[in-house]
Amino acid sequence: MDLEKFAQQIEQVHQRTKAFDQCVGESSLSQKHLLVQALEDLHTALEELHVAEEELIAQNENLAIAQNLIEKEHQRYLELFDCAPDGYLVTDTDGKIIEANRAATNQIKVPKKFLIGKPLSNYIPEEERRAFRTQLLQLRRMEQIQEWEIRLQPRHGNEFDCSINLTTVYDDQGNLLGWRWLLRDITARKQAEEQLRSIQLQNLQLQEATRIKSQFISVVSHELRTPMNTILGFSQLLLRRYYHLLPPELKTMVERIVNSGKQLLALIEDILDFSTLEADKLELQRQEFNLVELVTDTTEQLHFLAKQKNLTLAVHTNIQNPIIVNDKDRSRQVLVNLLDNAIKFTNVGGVFVEVRQTDQDKLEVMVRDTGIGIPEAELKHIFQGFWQLNQSTTRTHGGTGLGLAIVDKLLHLMNGTITVESKEGEGSTFCIILPRNLNS
Ligand code: ADP
Repeated sequence: MDLEKFAQQIEQVHQRTKAFDQCVGESSLSQKHLLVQALEDLHTALEELHVAEEELIAQNENLAIAQNLIEKEHQRYLELFDCAPDGYLVTDTDGKIIEANRAATNQIKVPKKFLIGKPLSNYIPEEERRAFRTQLLQLRRMEQIQEWEIRLQPRHGNEFDCSINLTTVYDDQGNLLGWRWLLRDITARKQAEEQLRSIQLQNLQLQEATRIKSQFISVVSHELRTPMNTILGFSQLLLRRYYHLLPPELKTMVERIVNSGKQLLALIEDILDFSTLEADKLELQRQEFNLVELVTDTTEQLHFLAKQKNLTLAVHTNIQNPIIVNDKDRSRQVLVNLLDNAIKFTNVGGVFVEVRQTDQDKLEVMVRDTGIGIPEAELKHIFQGFWQLNQSTTRTHGGTGLGLAIVDKLLHLMNGTITVESKEGEGSTFCIILPRNLNS
């Protein structure tokens, strides 16, 4: 029941009493009869009043419940406001602080009672204060306020970067009262951005350095290769044509020139390959070929090396279909490298090659030797460029420490893999897996 209804009921009782009063004056009925009618009317009026009173009590109770709810809601809002992890301030249109939550007082490092009533510009670094005030004046004219970044200067400690999110506060008539400020400390974000920027810059510098290095290596290697080929060509010709005419001493000298020339040329080729692979510039020549034939041919070509050391060199295979599609020359380069190493680092026993089908789409070539092996701790390094286990072995055996690094990078490009198992003193097994089709 609302108040209007209650007032109507009171009015009804009042009208009834008035009507009765009039009736008493005009009536010709007996006094007893009048009294009975009066009592009846009074009873009805009292009943109505009673109902109205009960409804009023019920309404009051509802009102009290609603008020309680509103108070609880308000309290909850205050708690949320106060305990929010970000700083909240409410200012008037001049930027004077009217409310502040706990996080904001912590950020500015001023107790709430001292913060209220102070201009927010007090906590902006001096050199940025003027710009802040200008911004504040502009805010009044802005329809929509976007995010904005400022620096805050707490009472103690260092300035920090703060992202601001503003909401406008209006009164019931729609007049601008001020703003609600959400202050978020973005020092960590700024630092991360700064770090990212410097890493990106370093990356660019590194990429540029790598590019220059690769270009330098490539140019120098090309420049070295041409005269080297001439030296090698002519000294080999000298040996072939005038072998019988040369005195033994001269023969040994020319042979040395040829051997060193070959080594130097191999080194130049390796460095060139390595730098091309590192710069992602090597392009594969895709073609169909018989892998078993390639393995057998390559092994035969290196037979003389194994024979020199009295080593067995054998190939075993039972593949039905040995045809694959990949880069044939690069596959040969991988095999030569593995076989060359296996022979180089084996003194007794032999080198055994097996070609197998691992699954429908892949073929595997296993090169196993009974050589000196590689210590377990060193296995993880052997595919790194310029890594050699033992400098003295290398001095006797030659090599650059680039072979396996090139093999690893080549196989990656050829969609293949290489793995190694080895035991010091017992031998090593290198296993390469090639896809049947480079593009599959
Ligand atoms: P290198 O030109 O020195 O042969 P590689 O990259 O081919 O360079 O090999 C790196 C090193 O890995 C070699 O110097 C050697 O110490 C070790 N290594 C490679 N293959 C074998 C093998 N079959 N047996 C023992 N050690 C090996």
